Amino acid sequence: MAKCPKCERETDHLETVQTGVQSANLYLSNKEIPPELAKIMRELKTAAIEYSDIEFEGDGGVMDYKCPFCHETLFGSEDDAVEFLAGIKSD
Ligand SMILES: [Zn+2]
Repeated sequence: MAKCPKCERETDHLETVQTGVQSANLYLSNKEIPPELAKIMRELKTAAIEYSDIEFEGDGGVMDYKCPFCHETLFGSEDDAVEFLAGIKSD
């Protein structure tokens, strides 16, 4: 298993962070909501919702690949991150 060069813990994955703008359409999962349920939902301020047509447009920011334990950025490219996880790359 790959070992983080910063904290030396073994990991089978990396965290990724990418900046940008996400857009989506918001729907109620159940589009036919009885009036009495709608009233309860308003009172509870909650509802079953779903997003569709999610689009993500990166803003050109760097995708960071971080250790899931110490959260240090280890890599700035997917190639390096994959090589690290595959044990090809040690730092
Ligand atoms: Zn670490």
